[in-house]
Amino acid sequence: MSYTFPRSAELYARAQKSIAGGINSGIRKLEVPVPLYFDHGQGCRLWDVDGNEYIDFQTGQGALLYGHAPAGMAEALSVQARKGTHWAAQSELEIDVAERLQRLIPGAERVRFNNSATEVVLAAFRLARAHTGRQLILKFEGHYHGWADEGLVGFAPPPDQWGTEEEPTRLHPSQGVISEVLEQFVVARWNDVEHLRQRVDQYRGQIAAIVFEPVLCNTGCMEPVPGLLSTIRELCDRDGMLMIADETITGFRFGPGGAQTHYGVVPDLTILGKAIGGGVPFAALVGKEASFAKFLSGAAVHAGTLNANPLCLAAAKWCLDQILELGSDHPKTLISLGQKTMQGLRALADEYGIPLRPQGPGLVFHATMLKPGAAEGPVTSYRDYVLRHDAPRWAHLRRCLLEEGVRAIERGLWFLSLAHTEADVDEALVRARRAFARHA
Ligand code: PLP
Repeated sequence: MSYTFPRSAELYARAQKSIAGGINSGIRKLEVPVPLYFDHGQGCRLWDVDGNEYIDFQTGQGALLYGHAPAGMAEALSVQARKGTHWAAQSELEIDVAERLQRLIPGAERVRFNNSATEVVLAAFRLARAHTGRQLILKFEGHYHGWADEGLVGFAPPPDQWGTEEEPTRLHPSQGVISEVLEQFVVARWNDVEHLRQRVDQYRGQIAAIVFEPVLCNTGCMEPVPGLLSTIRELCDRDGMLMIADETITGFRFGPGGAQTHYGVVPDLTILGKAIGGGVPFAALVGKEASFAKFLSGAAVHAGTLNANPLCLAAAKWCLDQILELGSDHPKTLISLGQKTMQGLRALADEYGIPLRPQGPGLVFHATMLKPGAAEGPVTSYRDYVLRHDAPRWAHLRRCLLEEGVRAIERGLWFLSLAHTEADVDEALVRARRAFARHA
């Protein structure tokens, strides 16, 4: 018997009378048959209000690298909550967290804290503009940098509006955006080194920074082609632009030093979110001291009532201690578990004749569903992804998986956590078999 969700449906109907649209983040509306309401989680398992139990690969959109409700973090939070949740002032905890970041990330000479990566992106862009005295930010098609006006330029243009190969659109997916903001961006296609060089040359001397997800996780799951990240570094050094790595997803997941260490580059600024707080609202901007100069002098403003609040810091300190303790080995476990999951899903797909092609480094991957007649082979760019990924068919399979107790992200991403084990993956694949049989 597959899962049913009567209590979630009831709560969703009730929510719509008070919460605009019934949900608090647009993407949650995509969950079918109904946005789910959860009761509790433990490790890699999650229970909804109907009593259904899931093996979770959504893991808080990747924030729960240490699993649901780790006991050590619960303890750290409860100790801190009794001492105070917010002082809007300094605490030794903030230095403890900053020093841990310095130890973990090469190039983290200085840090500043906020409560979401969206805010940190804005801080990074402001800093880069102040630092260089230039206005333009170069970003890549399909890369997501938070939901603000500046984060979503050129994120998800439909094929009839994505511009030419040479001149990708700056289209923003949202109404209500300050239109002049779009003019402050140059958009380039991902994974095309020559095209990137042309875009930089076209606006030479006007670009303050190049920002990128080191692995494009928010549209498919595409690793950078060899030479791409080193070219970004080279162009930034050549033209005095800041290199901004958005490691909101990849930070700590790829090991202590994140994807930048994995791929061997040192950015000027790095955006950290999700795993740094393990599920509490915490984010950081880290980077070279020189890049922070305008914050140091106060010439560029950085603020926030809840910045560096001790409650979130207590959680972040606990999370970073786990990373320090695990050392550089933990990605190997995540990669091998992820690859086992990917291979298991691919084998099931072949058995049931479903064109599912899991893609990515393992510790995070995307379940690409090929459209009828689409070419085989890894997806390498945003446009390639839109042309080949069958989103409605994936949505149907995702629903079948959910109804059998396996939870992946609505848009196709799967996140492994340090709480997943081989046995969990085996069990997820047994459940997935039932889902594939129903979907086929
Ligand atoms: N940058 C990247 C790469 C992200 O994936 C996200 C969120 O998914 C953000 C920034 C924004 O993070 P937040 O939702 O914490 O503001």
